[in-house]
Amino acid sequence: MRTILQHLTSDLNGMRNIIMRSASVAAVFCINSLIVITASNYTGGFAALWSANASLVFMLMIFPRKEHRLYCASVFLASLTVNLFSGFTLNTAIFYSFSNVLEAVLVFHILVRLGFPRTGLYNPAQLVEFGLVAVVVTAISATTASLDNIEQYGNAWISWFASDLLGLLIFLPCFNIIHATFTGTEKYIWPGSRWLEFAGIMFLVFAFSAAALVQSAVPLLFLTAIPVFMSAFRFGPLGGIASTLIVAIVAEFLTLSGFGPIAALDTSQITKIFVLQAYIASQLMLALPIASLLADRQSKVEKIIENEKLLRVMAEKEHKKAEEAKLQKMRLLARDELTGLSSRRHIMEKCEQALHRAQTRAIPLSIAIFDVDKFKSVNDRFGHAVGDDILHMIGKIAKKAKSKNQLIGRIGGEEFLILMPNTSIAEAEMQVDKLRLAIMETRLPDPDIGVTVSAGLADNSGSHDLKAMLLLADRALYSAKEDGRNRLKIAA
Ligand code: GH3
Ligand code: MG
Ligand code: MG
Repeated sequence: MRTILQHLTSDLNGMRNIIMRSASVAAVFCINSLIVITASNYTGGFAALWSANASLVFMLMIFPRKEHRLYCASVFLASLTVNLFSGFTLNTAIFYSFSNVLEAVLVFHILVRLGFPRTGLYNPAQLVEFGLVAVVVTAISATTASLDNIEQYGNAWISWFASDLLGLLIFLPCFNIIHATFTGTEKYIWPGSRWLEFAGIMFLVFAFSAAALVQSAVPLLFLTAIPVFMSAFRFGPLGGIASTLIVAIVAEFLTLSGFGPIAALDTSQITKIFVLQAYIASQLMLALPIASLLADRQSKVEKIIENEKLLRVMAEKEHKKAEEAKLQKMRLLARDELTGLSSRRHIMEKCEQALHRAQTRAIPLSIAIFDVDKFKSVNDRFGHAVGDDILHMIGKIAKKAKSKNQLIGRIGGEEFLILMPNTSIAEAEMQVDKLRLAIMETRLPDPDIGVTVSAGLADNSGSHDLKAMLLLADRALYSAKEDGRNRLKIAA
């Protein structure tokens, strides 16, 4: 019971929404028509710009398709009421209302079929296509609308065609642009921080239009092209549409009120309306293509900038990765895996640098080489893995014993080098011997064994290159081995 009630309420709510939307569509159409009809009443029924159908196309574009029939029916009724209210006969009102709905529905379906965006901007190619669609469809609706007026068929046809065509061309892009601006689908439309310039140019458009159309002493209609062009150039679609609208409204209002060069023409009222329409159309043709081209170009530029940013980020990432890999490789190359001490290559490089520094600054530098005693027998008795454990243990002791500015590296199987910058040979002797004792006193827990090391020590006092120093230290080490091992010898 409860679910039936819920269904019923949600159905009712849905219905209410559909009815509200249909009423709104009809109301917008109605208000639009009334404004245009009231504006053109001075002139005996000729509208210069029929914007109501453009508003219907726009609403068909943005509202659900399954409700279109309802909108069309309500707009038909609204149009009928407005026409009857404006003094047309029932026959004429029916022809006009049918043609209005037919026109909007045709434009909607053709644009959708051609892949136009529902709202938002038309690109330059679409603008041309849109113009052609509008010409064809308004020719069709003009044909059906004028059927009732056989005596004046030609005039009625041209009048309907011109005002509907112009209305579609100006107002559909106008609604699209306003919609896109407020919904934010086209972010580059809004003048943003340049609103003062926008207002300034719009004022210029207004001032030029008023100057050109309020007087008929000098023919100045061409003048409005300047700010309209400027506006489209500086503000793209929004600028183009806004300036054309201002010119259209000022021109229509002043001309229909009897002011300006068009009203002063010595010709029939309908010809004046055509001249007015041609004038407004020329401003539109000036503004829209530039605006559309600029918007197109801007969106392409934005895409390029975006892509470039992406590429830069990717390149930076790649670069970082490569740098990291290089650093990691260097780190690996600089380290001896088994003991965690410096690699042979790394400590040799550091020795070269330290020796150079010691020479240029005339400070002492000592190096020592130490070697595990009888290591072969350790391997032989306990196996290679235990030998490795011993080397690992020596690495740990050496790292703990060395001071901050010293470096210890493994330069051979069980042979190590200690680099001691700014250390005299006497100081070095103390430190290396301490390390020798520490190694001697430490034992592997399992199996319980210990090793001793012999060391040879040399400083830079007698030698100018690393090779010579290493040779001296090596000789001292050899002598320590000779003398019974587990001792330290200083190079002679
Ligand atoms: P001495 O006191 O004269 O230095 O005797 P020694 O046995 O240590 O000298 P020798 O040079 O004859 O032997 C060195 C041995 O070190 C040979 C090899 O088995 C061992 N050795 C070298 N590198 C490694 C290693 O990485 N791991 C292990 N477990 N043993 C190694
Ligand atoms: Mg050895
Ligand atoms: Mg050896």
